[in-house]
Amino acid sequence: QVKNKGKNNHCFYSDDLSKSAVERFTLEGQLRHALVRKQFEVYYQPQVSLITGEIIGAEALIRWNHPKLGLVSPATFIPMAEETGLIVQIGEWVLREAAHQIVRWHKAGHAIQWIAVNVSGVQIMRSNFADTVYGILMETDCNPHMLELEITESTVMQNTEYVIDTFNRIKQLGLKLAIDDFGTGYSSLSNLKRLPLDKIKIDQSFVRDLPDDLDDAAIANAIYAMAGSLGFSVIAEGVETQAQADFLSAMGCKEGQGYLYSKPVTATEFSKLLTK
Ligand code: C2E
Ligand code: MG
Ligand code: MG
Ligand code: MG
Repeated sequence: QVKNKGKNNHCFYSDDLSKSAVERFTLEGQLRHALVRKQFEVYYQPQVSLITGEIIGAEALIRWNHPKLGLVSPATFIPMAEETGLIVQIGEWVLREAAHQIVRWHKAGHAIQWIAVNVSGVQIMRSNFADTVYGILMETDCNPHMLELEITESTVMQNTEYVIDTFNRIKQLGLKLAIDDFGTGYSSLSNLKRLPLDKIKIDQSFVRDLPDDLDDAAIANAIYAMAGSLGFSVIAEGVETQAQADFLSAMGCKEGQGYLYSKPVTATEFSKLLTK
């Protein structure tokens, strides 16, 4: 009897089951099942013409409705999804949702031009991402011009060659490509020039203190000028005040995104914004 008092006697489950029981209590374990349990939702934030004030596009931003914790910020769970590789499936799901959504909006007669989807470097490095994109286009019957992919500047710098190769393939499929959080990732201009980019997103940290902060004003101007000379268009992130929007549009920037126009909202709420 004494000999049988191994650790199994203190456990309700076999080793395998106990492992998954423990996992179920961790955020990582719950993240693992969140897709199946339909706890994710894609929110959409308007991207607005600074000239006409119209909604021209949307950025898809994932939300996790945790049954106990409530809304968990992507800033918390995206890094976890990247570490575990789960971002490959999650990111594919977001892209498929966005493709379905833009097709739906077009069928409803809305003039919105594109949905921009964030792509993690892990998706590019750990999957045949261009094939995934192609599959989603086929499956959803989505015109590739209606999708834009956002990748952060730091991702580009970490995996330059493979990213350039994948971007070229995605570009050939007809999607638009944007660099997110621009100005925070120390990219070299020679690398930037090699990417088949359409757009640069000025990071919100440079927008926050406009128009008063002279350094940020100089940085915003420099990014805008550089993007223009490389042939990229520019959108400013984190536009919260009319004074920021005025500064940006006087500078020549034609697109903005931020709380001034709308927070990210559900697809249903976004449809109402489009109808207005
Ligand atoms: P991001 O792609 O740079 O997205 C912009 C973030 O700024 C969003 O935060 C958005 O809600 C927030 N934002 C928008 N307008 C304003 C504003 O006027 N002021 C301020 N202070 N913030 C504003 P969110 O939704 O919490 O997402 C955070 C980050 O999580 C995103 O940064 C992106 O890097 C990542 N993320 C979100 N969804 C996805 C996804 O589907 N896939 C991947 N790989 N990453 C995602
Ligand atoms: Mg983004
Ligand atoms: Mg950003
Ligand atoms: Mg960011």
